Amino acid sequence: MTNPVGTSCRSCGGGDLGVFLSLGNMPLSDGLLAPDDLQREEPRYPLDVAFCPDCTLAQILATVPPEELFGADYPYFSSFTDSRLKHSAANVAARIEERRLDGSSLVVELASNDGYLLQYYRARGIPVLGIDPALGPVAAARARGVETLQAFFGRDLAIQLATNGRCADVIHANNVLAHVADTNGFVSGIGTLLKEDGVAVIEVPYVRELIDHGEFDTIYHEHLCYFSVTALAELFRRHRLALNRVEPLTIHGGSLRLFVEKREQVDRSVTEYLQAEQRAGVDRFDYYAGFSARVERIRSDLLALLTRLKREGARIAGYGAAAKGTILLNFAGIGPEMLEFVADRNVHKQGRYMPGVRLPIVAPARILEEQPDYLLILPWNFKDEIMEQQAQYRRLGGRFIVPVPEPVVI
Ligand SMILES: [Zn+2]
Repeated sequence: MTNPVGTSCRSCGGGDLGVFLSLGNMPLSDGLLAPDDLQREEPRYPLDVAFCPDCTLAQILATVPPEELFGADYPYFSSFTDSRLKHSAANVAARIEERRLDGSSLVVELASNDGYLLQYYRARGIPVLGIDPALGPVAAARARGVETLQAFFGRDLAIQLATNGRCADVIHANNVLAHVADTNGFVSGIGTLLKEDGVAVIEVPYVRELIDHGEFDTIYHEHLCYFSVTALAELFRRHRLALNRVEPLTIHGGSLRLFVEKREQVDRSVTEYLQAEQRAGVDRFDYYAGFSARVERIRSDLLALLTRLKREGARIAGYGAAAKGTILLNFAGIGPEMLEFVADRNVHKQGRYMPGVRLPIVAPARILEEQPDYLLILPWNFKDEIMEQQAQYRRLGGRFIVPVPEPVVI
């Protein structure tokens, strides 16, 4: 456990952060390269993960300026799957019912993207406001009639909206809380923007998924915080908000849906999570201490497997130009000498290159044209879906390598 000099906890400001994993200098996980970019050196930033003993929050130390991560030229990939949309529609239906929302309510979504969620409220005649910093998604949201502000959400914007009488009955924030650099400003803004009886419905990846399942490749510069319920309860309490209910979500391989309100009305679900975390030691450094060795083992096992297959003359390609793929490939040092290409269905990614290792991204049709012996599945959380899509490749004798939680050949 090392104490990095001059860093303090993103949540509580404590100064005793202990680093438990260093992935090294990594390129930005979504920074896919255009052919012209190949002449240039791309920016790399350290990726160190630390635990705060004061408030129990796991977090990365470096903060890449948000403009670099989510700025105007942030590539816009409308990547919402059918299952994601169905999940959103169900979420909306439950909130309308539960909170008795109608034409006089207001629902705000932070990081509203292209309006994928708010569209379902709008279809039911409930006023909505989206807030998102990225130009492409904002334009797409407006095109489908979802009023959207192009801005970063924080304390100031919340005060401005509240002053203009635009407080919310429901605030949604899906997969954004872990991404914001000013964690306290964001949560304080939620408190300001909520009506007295409003609710914030917040979805975050769960730190136990990361640690218990070795999911180190979900650590990247956009993900600043890795939340436990213990750390979250403390964060909200600091802003006079109560974490009243927690629901487990299977989407994104294990996330939490949090219900946060001004009035404290703590449900049994919260107490159960807190007790389970205490039993597992999630609130102590020891729980995180062995993670680095496990990650190292995944890397060496994967490299040993790929090296053996190559030596036997096998041809290997990658599937899925996902953010976690960038981290896995760069951390393990898997480049063109191992993989021939990375196939991806997203036409916006095709013709580009994976950051750092610079593997070309091609259309999935290449798989059947080339019929490599093995496909390394980078977004392993979608492995079933991908293997189903590649049934023909499999029938022709193709096999799959799934790298996490431990490298296996299927
Ligand atoms: Zn802390």
